[in-house]
Amino acid sequence: MRTLIENIEFILTVDSEDRVLTRASVVIENDRIADVGPATEVAKRTPRHSVDAVIDASRCGMTPGFVDSHVHLSETLSRAVFPDNLATRAWVFHWAKPFYANVGGRDEVVGALIGMAEMLRCGTTCFLDMGAQNDVAGVVRAIREVGMRGVTGRHACDVRPEKVPAGWTGEMMAHHFFPDAKTALKELEATVRAHHGAAGGRVRCWVNIEGKEPCSLELHVGSRALAERLGVGTTYHLATSIEEAKVSENKYGVWPVSRIANAGGLGSNLVIAHCVAVTDEEIGRMAKAGTMVAFCPATSVKLAKGATRIGKYPEMIEAGIRVGIGTDGVSAGGNLNLMRQMYMVAGMFKDSRMDSTLVGARKALRMATIEGAQLLGWDSEIGSIERGKKADFVLFDLDHFEWVPYGDALQAVVYSASPASIAQTWVDGKPLYKDGRVQTLDEAALRREARERAAAVVKRAGLSLRHMPTVSTTYD
Ligand SMILES: [Zn+2]
Repeated sequence: MRTLIENIEFILTVDSEDRVLTRASVVIENDRIADVGPATEVAKRTPRHSVDAVIDASRCGMTPGFVDSHVHLSETLSRAVFPDNLATRAWVFHWAKPFYANVGGRDEVVGALIGMAEMLRCGTTCFLDMGAQNDVAGVVRAIREVGMRGVTGRHACDVRPEKVPAGWTGEMMAHHFFPDAKTALKELEATVRAHHGAAGGRVRCWVNIEGKEPCSLELHVGSRALAERLGVGTTYHLATSIEEAKVSENKYGVWPVSRIANAGGLGSNLVIAHCVAVTDEEIGRMAKAGTMVAFCPATSVKLAKGATRIGKYPEMIEAGIRVGIGTDGVSAGGNLNLMRQMYMVAGMFKDSRMDSTLVGARKALRMATIEGAQLLGWDSEIGSIERGKKADFVLFDLDHFEWVPYGDALQAVVYSASPASIAQTWVDGKPLYKDGRVQTLDEAALRREARERAAAVVKRAGLSLRHMPTVSTTYD
């Protein structure tokens, strides 16, 4: 199957030179970009009679598909259920944990399906999912069915809190925690072996763990070592708040990243999610090790993590650390809209440091595409519009008033456009989102089931009672 998409008004290629093509055409051959360039040149190389379909994109702009560097597909049924005055640790220990404890296998699959539907509508084509809590095989099937590209895994932790926290049950503790790091790593290895490379390579499986207080040092260090042995990556939450850093200092005498680094746990196959509470010295150690960071600006804003106050993301970038952008779960950050995160990243440090040279549109788009792909170790195949790469891209409708009129396409994408003007999202050479709906899903049936299941989970978890603490001393 060869498709010619012709006369595209602009293509932000996000290649190594950030080339912007105007009046351009792209030839899609099965799952890959067979040709890209000025329309007149592509027309000479690929006559119209040699293709199966022609799409006139003269009122469209193209960017690579967005790469969400940190998401929790299992969390999607909890949208706007928890209060909005929670700091990180109360959010995790008293609200998210009871929620997850009441999410069953099918709930998780439905959460993943609606999560992917939202992502496709927002131009996201690939993601790094923290992993299933119940049914990894079900989530992998869901990714296969929808047609997206992504990394998933299995949730793992091994350190129980000394006292059973509010909202937790004994049964939940038994289900949620592995008895020790060794048992957890054995199960994670089996999960990677079962699912890595599924769906014709669209699904990758990593040695993901929850990270921070509910995971032992042995599990943190062991997950990265195991990932290296299996030739995959690992990701976990760390240094997610100043509270976590202070607890770590009290207990171990050092902040979280130093504790992992001192144990030899850093490496170039590790993506640390959040990483807001770090020292300059820790940034140096991460840069040296090639460790990468998934920054989730919406979660920071919603849960008061302090990205603009204590975060050192511009310093990380300056030090050469690869920083990607994540939405986080829909409850933590509020949405799975990577364009919104890209907008925040472009501007939040300009404002907080009163320095207009920080980050900006060009870097933010790179972080949301090619550099996100680098975090996932997938940049040889995705993240930019180049010949030979997978056909994962977004088409914007330039007749939408977000685009009428516009000057610089790059600035318009980052500061002006939203998913409202996304016309199509393609993954692996297929238009998965077009004509206002996800083509591979029965959207109406899915919405119905998601609403019913979300209400049932919230009821089972008792979260509607609003009696959970809004501050946490768990693991203190
Ligand atoms: Zn997370």
